[in-house]
Amino acid sequence: MPSKYWSDFVQGLDPYVPGEQPKQQDLIKLNTNENPYPPSPKVVEVLTQDAVKLLRLYPDPSNSLLKTAIANYYNMDLGNVSVGNGSDEILAFAFQAFFKQRLPILFPDITYGFYTVYCGLFDIDYTQIPLADDFSIKLSDYQRENGGVIFANPNAPTGIGKSLQSIEVLLQSNTESVVIVDEAYVDFGAESAASLVGRYPNLLVVQTLSKSRSLAGSRVGFALGSTVLIEALEKVKNSFNPYSVDRLAEAAAVAAIDDVAYFEQCCAKIIKTRQWVSEQLESLGFEVLPSQANFVLIRPTSISASELFEQLRQHNIVVRFFKKPRIDAYIRVTIGSDNEMIALVDALKEILLQRR
Ligand SMILES: *Cc1c(COP(=O)(O)O)cnc(C)c1O
Repeated sequence: MPSKYWSDFVQGLDPYVPGEQPKQQDLIKLNTNENPYPPSPKVVEVLTQDAVKLLRLYPDPSNSLLKTAIANYYNMDLGNVSVGNGSDEILAFAFQAFFKQRLPILFPDITYGFYTVYCGLFDIDYTQIPLADDFSIKLSDYQRENGGVIFANPNAPTGIGKSLQSIEVLLQSNTESVVIVDEAYVDFGAESAASLVGRYPNLLVVQTLSKSRSLAGSRVGFALGSTVLIEALEKVKNSFNPYSVDRLAEAAAVAAIDDVAYFEQCCAKIIKTRQWVSEQLESLGFEVLPSQANFVLIRPTSISASELFEQLRQHNIVVRFFKKPRIDAYIRVTIGSDNEMIALVDALKEILLQRR
């Protein structure tokens, strides 16, 4: 309930609504794109009694161990890396650092819900560019004057990715504002724009450890960009919270990034499961958008998306339904373990059979 103690600004805020985190234990949770596999076993090894004892000390404000791990993985210098408390925080810093401009920023009409939320919070003008009819992002539509560009690659909640080449074409013409590529899902089969950072000083690549490295509960994200962009991000960060990545989160993140073999194995399993479940869903009559992420956006043909959402819930399966124009005929399903996907397919068969 609004209160007289609230500022006008807070009355007008329209916050992000995260997918539900249900307390019920026996649910199959396919609604927030978490990884079905645990973090690397190396993460458990670093969360020791000694690590806990060190919590009396503030963390390293430059998080240099974490930046080094990320820089090594991407073959970059420390000065090209910034880290934050989840990539949502990195995005918040980046919107403030780069997008408070005279011209509106551009992003797709269907994309990650936080972009409009941050525009509201930081009073940034935006123009939403419609996705093409096949739900892909058409980057040629972004070749107009703007205060900045942001898109997710692969996009959420469609799962559809853009080629590195098409991103480079945009960067070649869009040199006067910052282009942010939000790569939250890139490790599940798309191409990272990290390799372009050295050539385009206005490119910021944002990634997270929440999805492909199974650390959603730990909150670590990072940005890769030119030293000019990174310096601006750090200025905002150090004007807000110099200790945004805590000691345990940093230790866990370093261990997860260094365990490349485990990471690659988990991503490969999810891609394989995605292929299997996509075929199953198509044979059940669903339209399945071609995903390069750890989720699929699917359209049922003999039942409405909202009813299917409810029916799955009764089968103890939680998925995501967006009551938004263009995508309200679809549900988004996170790729879980093989057993979870088998349970999903069985539940769908039962639900569809009852409808005959
Ligand atoms: C999950 C997600 C994020 C946020 O990730 P965190 O690091 O957990 O804050 C950012 N962008 C997109 C597109 C996402 O799906």
